[in-house]
Amino acid sequence: MKKHNFYAGPSILPQFTLDETVSAIRDFAGTGLSLLEISHRSKQFVAVMDEATAMFKELLNIPEGYSVIFLGGGASLQFCMVPFNLMNKKAGFLVTGEWATKAHKEAKNFGEAVEVASSKDKNFSYIPKNFNVPKDLDYFHITTNNTIYGTQLRKDLDVGVPLVADMSSDIFCRPLDVSKYALIYGGAQKNLAPAGVTFVIIRNDILGKVDRKIPTMLNYQTHIDKGSMFNTPPVMPVFSALQTLKWLKAQGGVAAMEKINKHKAELLYAEIDRNPYFKGTVEKEDRSWMNICFVMSDEHKALEQEFLDFATSKGMVGIKGHRSVGGFRASTYNALPLESVKALIDTMKEFEKMKS
Ligand SMILES: *Cc1c(COP(=O)(O)O)cnc(C)c1O
Repeated sequence: MKKHNFYAGPSILPQFTLDETVSAIRDFAGTGLSLLEISHRSKQFVAVMDEATAMFKELLNIPEGYSVIFLGGGASLQFCMVPFNLMNKKAGFLVTGEWATKAHKEAKNFGEAVEVASSKDKNFSYIPKNFNVPKDLDYFHITTNNTIYGTQLRKDLDVGVPLVADMSSDIFCRPLDVSKYALIYGGAQKNLAPAGVTFVIIRNDILGKVDRKIPTMLNYQTHIDKGSMFNTPPVMPVFSALQTLKWLKAQGGVAAMEKINKHKAELLYAEIDRNPYFKGTVEKEDRSWMNICFVMSDEHKALEQEFLDFATSKGMVGIKGHRSVGGFRASTYNALPLESVKALIDTMKEFEKMKS
């Protein structure tokens, strides 16, 4: 049976990415060697790194004055690397979920980390609005997509201080105005590549302003100066990321992706709102295009496990909600075909028929 992969991360990749990666693992760039056993300093791999960096810049329309680097350590390492490199005294945080909370908590190790606004009062079911960002912050940190609770901030904010964004789960889901950001980072395993590589987009002029000594490996400048080759980069995930970027370009880039993502999300939310067995969990205006959370409606709460089993029997994979929310979460990343969204909607409709 066809499987529909709704996992939140690691998650679905384009078939093109999988095919090209498998092929390169057998024979990389005609070398007769596997991608897994070739030097990262070989000219064939250096070309992959250079092309991945260039395509990142091209697809996101990144202006002059910014660097793109690929690191290990996951987005979670950035929770400390960002304050280490950018925080002299004080940074502000928009606390919109568990990942934002972790970033905020980690930054407290390096200075004054203030909560500018939070949606914790309502279990992170909305994005706070009309908050005031203090002007004396070294930077203001946001998490654009709340992977666990299913809210998303799809505006490039003007905040008057350097803006830092964790875009782990929604990078490349829409066009961005990168010039509004000082730094953007994310783990690649949600919407780009297999686990193991982290991307960082940095405006060069924000570096070199902190007083503390920075360990070489934790210093962004080290990796910028060496083109992400200071030490061995995660070779295979970087190769796979490049394949996803090529696939993205062939789809029409981020502008085309935005249309498709919006369409997929609208279809699924419409069914959640229509079907009397289900209901949404977050404010409608803040609903994520990437992680669509829903629960059984109040009068049908007892049917949760039954629906999960039914959906599993129909080929749906990974729709169980995060333990902190319960219910269901369908992750609808770029690589998830429209066909899978339609299959989930059909499953919800069938369940309704079966029960009424
Ligand atoms: C998954 C996720 C992280 C954590 O990523 P790791 O690479 O596992 O450290 C951080 N932020 C967001 C928004 C995420 O979705």
